[in-house]
Amino acid sequence: MTLIKNKIFLFENVNKLKGVGGKISNYLRSKKITKIKDLIWDFPYSYTDRSNLAKLDQLEIGKVLTIKVKPTKYNFPRIRNLPNKVICEDDKGKINIVFFNSRENYIKKVLPLNNWVVVSGKINYFKKNYQITNPSYIEKVEGINKIQKIIPKYNLTEGLTEKMYRKIIDQVITDLPDLNEWHDESIIKQFKFDSWKFSIQKMHSSSIKGGTNNKYFKRLVLDEIISNLIILSKNRSIIKTKKSRKIFDNSISDNIFKNLSFELTQDQKKVIHEINQDLKSDKRMFRILQGDVGSGKTIVSLITLANVIRAGYQTSLMAPTDILAKQHYELSKKIFDKMNIKIDYLSGKTDPKKRKNILEKINSGEINLLIGTHSLFQKKIEFKNLGYVVIDEQHKFGVKQRMDFAQKGGKNCDVLLMSATPIPRTMMLSLYGDMDVSKLIQKPKARLPIQTFSKPEKKIIELIDLIKKNIKKNNQIFWVCPLIKESKLVNYSSVIKRYEWLQNIFKDKVGIIHGAIKKDEKDKILNNFLNKKIKILVSTTVIEVGIDFPNANLIIIENANKFGLAQLHQLRGRVGRGLKQGMCILLYKENLSENSIKRIKILKKTNDGFLIAEEDMKMRGFGDIIGFQQSGEKFFKLADPVKHEDLFIFAEDYIKNIQQKDINKFSFLLKLFDKAEIIN
Ligand code: ADP
Ligand code: MG
Repeated sequence: MTLIKNKIFLFENVNKLKGVGGKISNYLRSKKITKIKDLIWDFPYSYTDRSNLAKLDQLEIGKVLTIKVKPTKYNFPRIRNLPNKVICEDDKGKINIVFFNSRENYIKKVLPLNNWVVVSGKINYFKKNYQITNPSYIEKVEGINKIQKIIPKYNLTEGLTEKMYRKIIDQVITDLPDLNEWHDESIIKQFKFDSWKFSIQKMHSSSIKGGTNNKYFKRLVLDEIISNLIILSKNRSIIKTKKSRKIFDNSISDNIFKNLSFELTQDQKKVIHEINQDLKSDKRMFRILQGDVGSGKTIVSLITLANVIRAGYQTSLMAPTDILAKQHYELSKKIFDKMNIKIDYLSGKTDPKKRKNILEKINSGEINLLIGTHSLFQKKIEFKNLGYVVIDEQHKFGVKQRMDFAQKGGKNCDVLLMSATPIPRTMMLSLYGDMDVSKLIQKPKARLPIQTFSKPEKKIIELIDLIKKNIKKNNQIFWVCPLIKESKLVNYSSVIKRYEWLQNIFKDKVGIIHGAIKKDEKDKILNNFLNKKIKILVSTTVIEVGIDFPNANLIIIENANKFGLAQLHQLRGRVGRGLKQGMCILLYKENLSENSIKRIKILKKTNDGFLIAEEDMKMRGFGDIIGFQQSGEKFFKLADPVKHEDLFIFAEDYIKNIQQKDINKFSFLLKLFDKAEIIN
């Protein structure tokens, strides 16, 4: 079968290619390649130089070489697990070509006795003989040109050899269709770009040698960034439709203001005003509220929810964990006390009978505010008139999950995302495009910055005194370990072992919590921590997101080097949320890597979450940042907001100048990057 050089073939299944059957399809699938176009983006990461033709007295162990030899003797032992061997010679020496798991017939065919052949592979030395094991290439002398060159190296999976993969990829790359250029002439000139087709072909060719620092790659990166931005702005225009809201009323929020036990910060007031302006306007709100841990986002969201409830709409608040959602539920009950607002709570763990009852009340409009976890965006949940949704710790949800939830209210529903992980500018741009942003930079007045110290693990015993002092002052303590149970594989501390150790000293003042503990038990423990029966809570990172225990002032983080910068910042944000000084101790094992030392230094120096997020991004690259990897999404195939910051900034301007009528030029590009479906 020959492939037609047209666009459609790119979207065919890989098994349309020669040599790709069921087995190879499966191998490819494990590389996330199912359609032919997926192969295009799988660039070689390096290259193998097979151009060196060596005589048998010029062999170098460990090097990939190409040799021209004559097979002189077969040695087929016919014993299981012993390899087949072929002795080959040239006028300078001898070498063994060794085959594991091969058939004699095949060997006889490719290495016929006394016929010159060309073989390429890595040179080994075994029992005083040079040998090549399972050579990558064997050709007749006429075919030497097929081997003797610089060959791109791809990430292969088990079962897929270089030769097989090249055969597959070559079919695609040589048959690429010519596409109409989507960029303006001026852009092409400015960057000296080549066409899409030529750029792809170059990236797969040996002349690039697996490098990405070239204009071909740059072009493809810009293509991807642009396609991403087009989707984001399209998304926004879908979301930012007109809405019809009847009334808007401040009476409840004014009431809440009056009853608060603290004064809102200027930033909180400013943000509430920004959100209210959006809620009042005739355009749908699509806004993200960014604020470092402890900046007081929850109260802001609840106050703004109140106005919409008052206007006669249902509202909903979604959080990523049970603990956090429950906490929001408790707080909202307190805040909306005696205001005749019906609040309910729904999670995946709500029992079926209760769940059914809640679903009915959502449907009839009886519930004004529904708080819960992931279960809120399920199909079965139908609101009567949902007017406003808030998604807390939004980066823990996928794009589609957020969309599904927001769509429940139809085009009249306002959306507020909240994020405690401050999102640096380039990332913001690449994830949300030009979405409206509100920021809480100020911390509530009374709050003191958390003091951070580091300590080698061998001095762990010194912490006992510190804990005792804290307990005496009626403070509470978090103790975080990376693992639940000890593991032979890694040398990290576990909550179970640490719990036992602490229990020996502090008896029933110690509690333990981790992901494997049942919900009822978890609730009980958290309650005991909240009402101060438990003084020390040993925990995995389940406490990482958002939970609020104002009386916790000391957090000890074991194997601190195991955690990322932003994650450590999140964790320490669990303390010092009340009026007292918070303290964080980072325990580490000896022999820290340079990066770990740097991370600890930064944490000791600053409490500024925005700065920490930027540093984290620089050190770890995009996509590794806390939370973003957990949502399981890979945002870009090629682009990286850290490495290609300049292109992101360029693209931001560029997209603003693309005329609506020219957007169609990019439609094929969107398809290539799997973006077309998102719009629909
Ligand atoms: P986050 O932004 O991390 O979600 P929270 O909303 O959980 O922060 O707020 C953290 C704590 O600060 C809560 O106990 C909350 O009641 C308290 N808080 C919020 N705003 C203020 C304020 N203006 N003054 C004092 N305390 C506040
Ligand atoms: Mg929060």
